[in-house]
Amino acid sequence: VVAGDVTFGSFSLPRRRGERLACGSDEDAVTLAIDAAERALAGWRRDRGEIDAVHVVLGHGPEIIGTLAHAVREALGLRPGVRVVPFAADPVTAVSALQAACAFVGSGELRAVLVVASEAAAGADERSAGAAAVVVAPGGDGGAAVVVEEVARFSELTHERLRPSAEGEFLPDVRFLQHRYAAVVGSALASAPQPALGELDGVFFAGGWRQVQAGIRASHGLDQAFTDVVTEQSDFGVAGPIVALLDAATHRAGGDLGLVVFGDGQAVVLRVRTPGVGGDSFGWSEPRPSGRRPGAVRTQGPALPLPVESPFFARSWGETLRLVAAKCTTCGQVVFPPSQRTICSGCGGREWSEYALPRTGTILTFVDNHFLPAGFPESMVLALGELEDGVHYWAPMPPEIAGEDVAIGDRVALKLRRFTIRDGIPVYGMKYVPAPLENGGR
Ligand SMILES: [Zn+2]
Repeated sequence: VVAGDVTFGSFSLPRRRGERLACGSDEDAVTLAIDAAERALAGWRRDRGEIDAVHVVLGHGPEIIGTLAHAVREALGLRPGVRVVPFAADPVTAVSALQAACAFVGSGELRAVLVVASEAAAGADERSAGAAAVVVAPGGDGGAAVVVEEVARFSELTHERLRPSAEGEFLPDVRFLQHRYAAVVGSALASAPQPALGELDGVFFAGGWRQVQAGIRASHGLDQAFTDVVTEQSDFGVAGPIVALLDAATHRAGGDLGLVVFGDGQAVVLRVRTPGVGGDSFGWSEPRPSGRRPGAVRTQGPALPLPVESPFFARSWGETLRLVAAKCTTCGQVVFPPSQRTICSGCGGREWSEYALPRTGTILTFVDNHFLPAGFPESMVLALGELEDGVHYWAPMPPEIAGEDVAIGDRVALKLRRFTIRDGIPVYGMKYVPAPLENGGR
């Protein structure tokens, strides 16, 4: 694993103990996945044309149906020939997606594979929203890679997702699960070659509940050294294993660690060797939820001008998902969206070349609109930004951002967010989000 980065939900919601990270009303597993993948590819610093496959693990929750893995490939602008492999999502699946990537790259069949795991945590459970992406490619850059090796695996029926009724909040019986997982993880650990685990610098967890982790630690004599690890504080669902991997890569330089991934009756024990100091192809931004998210408005989105299955939307993916603009080959004027600007207003020319708009800029002016058509939120900020190259670009801001939160001159980043859900299908586009200045603005 030669590069990787993370993204977390922008808001927090109260839970029985403390808080959990949550998506904003226009974020979901797809937007988190795309953001994490963009950051990981930026850290990789290679031509993304070398990516031969994308392994996608999306935990949508009940809100959105389908894998939408192709939206991830389209938004990243990967070659049409890149193979997209969606993995059915449970808490251990990301390990399989990573192992499959390692096998393809190790055998030389593929040059590089992007593995993306994203959890929207839209259900009533205690999971947190977050995403992580890694690039699997041959190393050779002085060992600046995370090496992952499966040590043991065990599974057993646990019934933890069995719901007695469709009504109300689902609260699993944690005491029962603590007992069951002590057995499942215990069996996995017992089948690990000895004394492999004793030689490690420590063991940490991804998945499940903290009480369950504590129970396993107590019954197997594992130390308490890693309780600061984010996946031991919050359960990131299907994204947990890759988030844990990047937590180790960025916070435990030169470590030789055990990672126990468990959930849905399965347990996998991995040995994770992290690069020494200077492995800057791995990024990490601490979760920074911006306060409690207002109650979600769950209404059908505004009517679209065309049905969602219209080829119009597929044809406009370059503009809507990747911000592909056009540049006049005669006078250099940049126009957006190119499909609606066929004659150059600068010189009357008709020859254009593709031009990728920058994703960061500053706010020039904005409108706090309180008079929106049916289906929109009560108010929405529409901002005119000046991008890094001087191009002016209009985009809305997320519904949770109010006019008084915005000022002229604010740094912003264009991020893919959900515009609406129409007939169960999400429609994505670019919005201005207060700039994430950590990670060098990745
Ligand atoms: Zn021109």
